[in-house]
Amino acid sequence: MKKRSHRPADEIQDLQFFGEFGGVNPSISDSATYTFLHAETMLETFEGKSEGCYLYSRHSSPSTRYLSEALARMENTEAALVTASGMGAITSVLLQLLSAGDHLVSSRTVYGGTYAFMKNFLPKLGIEVTFADPSDPEAMEAAVRPDTKLIYTEGLSNPLLEVSDIEALSGIAHKHGIPLAVDNTFTPLIFTPHNLGADIVIHSLTKFINGMNDTVGGCVCSTEEFIRRLLNVNDGAAMLLGPVMDSIRANQILKNMHTLPVRMVKHSQNTMFLARKLEEDGLKVKYPGLKSHPQHALFMRQMNPDFGFGGMILLDLETRERAERFMERMQEENIGYLAVSLGFYKTLFNAPGEGTSSEIPEAEQKAMGLSKGMVRMSVGLDFDIQRTYRKIKKVLASLDSVIA
Ligand code: PLP
Repeated sequence: MKKRSHRPADEIQDLQFFGEFGGVNPSISDSATYTFLHAETMLETFEGKSEGCYLYSRHSSPSTRYLSEALARMENTEAALVTASGMGAITSVLLQLLSAGDHLVSSRTVYGGTYAFMKNFLPKLGIEVTFADPSDPEAMEAAVRPDTKLIYTEGLSNPLLEVSDIEALSGIAHKHGIPLAVDNTFTPLIFTPHNLGADIVIHSLTKFINGMNDTVGGCVCSTEEFIRRLLNVNDGAAMLLGPVMDSIRANQILKNMHTLPVRMVKHSQNTMFLARKLEEDGLKVKYPGLKSHPQHALFMRQMNPDFGFGGMILLDLETRERAERFMERMQEENIGYLAVSLGFYKTLFNAPGEGTSSEIPEAEQKAMGLSKGMVRMSVGLDFDIQRTYRKIKKVLASLDSVIA
């Protein structure tokens, strides 16, 4: 299934969008609406029949098109659409594919906002959801019903870092005649879900892809046909719900995307270093690059090896009190920030049970193995990770004495 000839970093390196006057960056399209020389062309553009024409920026603009093309090339899909946030991408996909009376099978560990939308919002529209273990294809298949219209998962899940067997899940989806959507936010470049059989690939661009923590953004990568459906003026979820990304932001994200390959390599190197050292020190560490991770071999099978195992790591500090103290001390030592989100130059950490996954009820958190002592860290681009490790050791050493 893997298409070896597709190399995502080369796709980014080879992007070539010139601006007006020969600018090395594309010009920003600072317009909400566009003129036509002929009324006929406007009508054709409305109907999606004229290439290279723009109608209105809720539909698309040259700036959002450039970024969409870059993302489609990175994910090896025919087309892509950028949105104002990752949730804008996720909700557009779900509302495009699901109607009243339909059923969705989703990974049980997904980002808290995605979980809340599926659990609390979709039922209001008459859409049912069953959550299952994404690393267990049989459990996911057992949840599929005749009215199931979509299987949804995250390549590497937030926050538990469970690895989805994308190839197996796509096989199951296609056997049942339905698409597989994969949120690839935690593993850009590392996984290319479409090459493993996924039909729809979603990102929160807010995270690694933009990498600057200055904006939210999202995207959907898929076939030309599906992207056109999302943008259809009559019934396209993206067109009608309007989660549109501004042209200025699209231009900024495109420029930041140019450095994504080097950033991902450094995030992965730093995280691997800390994971190994902290595990050796006896801390409970979950990281897909460690042999102790239950899906280490699956991750290896699916990954593009150039980019490592990613920048996300889970530490189990045993109790909520220790986790909170650890994070506060980490911030005091300026190792990173106690903040949600990920993919920044600085290390970010939070306790997902209390923060980004607090939408998931406590009993379900327990069932999926999410404990109050867990700290999710997005490891930064620290130039000297050995120095960072020494500082973390100091924080860890100070913990128990303070609590006692
Ligand atoms: N998907 C994942 C895996 C996430 O972690 C997040 C946000 O944390 C989202 C989607 C939502 O993205 P956004 O915050 O850009 O709407």
